[in-house]
Amino acid sequence: RLMQSTTLKYKSLSPSKKDEADFHLDELLNPSLLNDLPKTHLDKLRGPDGELHQKLRNLSLKHIKRISNEIMDRDLNVRWDDIAGLHQAKQCVNEMVIWPLLRPDIFKGCRSPGRGLLLFGPPGTGKTMIGKAIASEAKATFFHISASSLTSKWLVRALFAVASCCQPAVIFVDEIDSLLSKRKSKDEHEEVRRLKTQFLLEMEGCDSGNDQVLLIGATNRPKDLDEAARRRLTKRLYIPLPSAEARAWIVQNLLKKDNLFELSMEDLDIICNLTEGYSGSDMKNLVNDASMGPVREALKQGIKLANLNKNDMRSVTLQDFEDSLQEVRPSVSPNELDTYEEWNTQFGRLS
Ligand code: ADP
Repeated sequence: RLMQSTTLKYKSLSPSKKDEADFHLDELLNPSLLNDLPKTHLDKLRGPDGELHQKLRNLSLKHIKRISNEIMDRDLNVRWDDIAGLHQAKQCVNEMVIWPLLRPDIFKGCRSPGRGLLLFGPPGTGKTMIGKAIASEAKATFFHISASSLTSKWLVRALFAVASCCQPAVIFVDEIDSLLSKRKSKDEHEEVRRLKTQFLLEMEGCDSGNDQVLLIGATNRPKDLDEAARRRLTKRLYIPLPSAEARAWIVQNLLKKDNLFELSMEDLDIICNLTEGYSGSDMKNLVNDASMGPVREALKQGIKLANLNKNDMRSVTLQDFEDSLQEVRPSVSPNELDTYEEWNTQFGRLS
């Protein structure tokens, strides 16, 4: 009966109270909760005495585990060279993130890099790719988390505490605006507010301490960020739509990867002229669609899919791209671009 009434009480708790209760419960019920984490992760969470690190002792194992599962291992298959254009952004990220992580002894004092970076710009322009490339290039533990999955202040605490145990560490938070938004609906939940306060507090801690933990936030809605968030994300980089040159590079690179590139330079120029305003992700969709052209044509001519021989198919042509341009439209409107540019002029570091 005691068990039943306790279960009932537990079910009626608010989410934050539930988190507190979980903290006590999971330790009692399942002290080996972390054991199935990869050994390399687990080793980082343990202090010299082999026990859970001091910084984690007042946190729930469930949360520690959830956060540890967000660690991305280094082999992410995105390199700087896979990202078209964005030379200034790459340079800045190199200086701000990669170098300090590789040589903390040089990048301190006046050269200290600041601990918060914001990547903002239209969707599909390579912000997440930059995050992944950082993970590949810097010898740091990399956490990739979407702001919407940070559902309690305890998880936020766990995120920064686990990162601190795994330093040097980079925390990449997607859609950071949803966490640090200035929109205050009348009924903004008490818990959402606590969550946000905790996040800002932890960011402050990152900044003032000696920990080597860097936070990168990515957003398509920089205008939604409030002043406190802006202040803590000291470097704000605009990640714009790709230039004509970058668009050509994306087409070439994607087709070459599959040995499908047989366009002339003139064709490539025409494709670039026709794709003004397309994002990197739109370009990828366009290439996908255009490369289907030869397959569609062969099937139309009555060849059965099972009998289709890759070597007999014609190459991808300018006409395929022109056909696909009717289907794949740019996803970012010119009005939206104005908003990014305005925000960049006001708060960004470079264009
Ligand atoms: P964001 O995080 O800015 O919304 P992503 O980094 O997730 O965009 O990009 C989505 C996809 O679009 C990538 O997987 C890649 O295929 C393509 N892409 C976007 N920008 C670029 C770029 N600059 N260079 C190469 N590919 C890109």
